[in-house]
Amino acid sequence: MMFKSTRDSAVRVSASEAILKGLSADGGLFVPESFPTLTLDDIEGLSEKSYKERAIEVLSLFLSDFSDEQLVSCVERAYSAKKFGSDSIIRIEELNDTAQMLELWHGPTCAFKDMALQILPHLLTTSAQIQHCENEIVILVATSGDTGKAALEGFCDVPGTRMIVFYPEDGVSPMQKRQMTTQEGENVAVCAIKGNFDDAQTAVKTIFVDEELRASMTENGKQFSSANSINWGRLVPQVVYYVAAYAQLVQDETIKLGDTVNVCVPTGNFGNILAAYYAKKMGVPFGKLICASNENNVLTDFIRTGTYDKNRAFHATISPSMDILISSNLERLLYDLCGEDDAQVRAWYESLAKTGTFTISDEVKEKLSEHFYGGCCDDTRTKETIREAFEEESYLCDTHTAVAVSVYEDYKTQTDDDTLTLIASTANPYKFAQSVLSAVYDELPADEYDQIDTLCRLSGLSVPKALSELKEKPVRFTGSIPRETIKETVAEMLGL
Ligand SMILES: *Cc1c(COP(=O)(O)O)cnc(C)c1O
Repeated sequence: MMFKSTRDSAVRVSASEAILKGLSADGGLFVPESFPTLTLDDIEGLSEKSYKERAIEVLSLFLSDFSDEQLVSCVERAYSAKKFGSDSIIRIEELNDTAQMLELWHGPTCAFKDMALQILPHLLTTSAQIQHCENEIVILVATSGDTGKAALEGFCDVPGTRMIVFYPEDGVSPMQKRQMTTQEGENVAVCAIKGNFDDAQTAVKTIFVDEELRASMTENGKQFSSANSINWGRLVPQVVYYVAAYAQLVQDETIKLGDTVNVCVPTGNFGNILAAYYAKKMGVPFGKLICASNENNVLTDFIRTGTYDKNRAFHATISPSMDILISSNLERLLYDLCGEDDAQVRAWYESLAKTGTFTISDEVKEKLSEHFYGGCCDDTRTKETIREAFEEESYLCDTHTAVAVSVYEDYKTQTDDDTLTLIASTANPYKFAQSVLSAVYDELPADEYDQIDTLCRLSGLSVPKALSELKEKPVRFTGSIPRETIKETVAEMLGL
């Protein structure tokens, strides 16, 4: 299988090349030339298998230039019971009669990003081997919080790689910050940016297409790649867990093979929900894809009106991993919905760059509405939802997951659709202990670890060791830079 760019359909690269490059030189994102299909028989076969076997089968459909041994080795190293708490890797818990929580946060950093970032370093180093690339691979990450830590943990001390993480100084939770600034490993660095997530992401994107920097990297035997969800190697493991989740529901006899299931996803950069769309495109019987946003509701408006407009106030919310106004992966969806018209995609994204807005045609809008429903909620409603789910269903959600639960409830009320819905549960609630505790309890201790203890006493949910042990770890990274100097900082860190 070959891959092409959303901004130039004539580009042809293999899977390993797409993963190694991250972003196409024209600024577009790599997408499969055509989508493999899964029949119901295939899905039935998968329902009898383990997560790792399901992963190998789905990945092999997309990564056709990887050998079987290479794929098995990547999957074995990424998805161990030791790292994810059990062989099932994902867990599905009932919320109520019509909703099941798809818990994607049992990995080493307690957020769903581990699902992709535990395997990406192995996909990337294997891609380098396949491509006979001897350069040191430098990973630049712009993070709204969870990606940074998950990437650091995934790449820590992986030979032949280096990683620099940029995060918005005031845009991550204290626990997220602590997780990143205490990171161990000789090949990693972390730096705060004065600005929001979009500033960091835009800055990193400009570095990828900076000719001067690229040339000096090559001279020094280095090359950039990306661990952001613009990298195909991030996205394809996410397709895996949607296929696996459906197969799991069949295996558990929660549904019958072929039953339609809706999917509701707390959305930021549009990677997670796009993976659900791709699984649907492959043949998994998914119905509506419910896109849940927080107060940064640019996607809600887009799905409802067909106009994408990022010219609006940026809100720092209690679900910071969704505080995003430019959802990069939407470009992949639009490329698909407009019939792979690269000129059209270029025009939309030129317009977005120049004016901050673009509008899709009625025809594309109709296709969008056929698959997607968009909704949003503010912080007050998010906290109410955490309390209601805890008191009424004994389910403790983190702040991001609660946005999805709230939007799912709105969807159900508005449409009367009671199709079984998988709600993506994207982070362990202890990662956002302050907001979660204040939603369910009147007293809020000042110290973060006291908050965690109180939440543990109330909920009985065990505190993951990965979070409790951070208390004793020394802070290694304290740097903070204005966003304008990101290029100079990168050059300096790499000794260019
Ligand atoms: C990253 C993240 C999201 C948003 O996912 P996207 O793929 O960027 O849409 C939601 N919740 C949590 C906890 C996250 O870390």
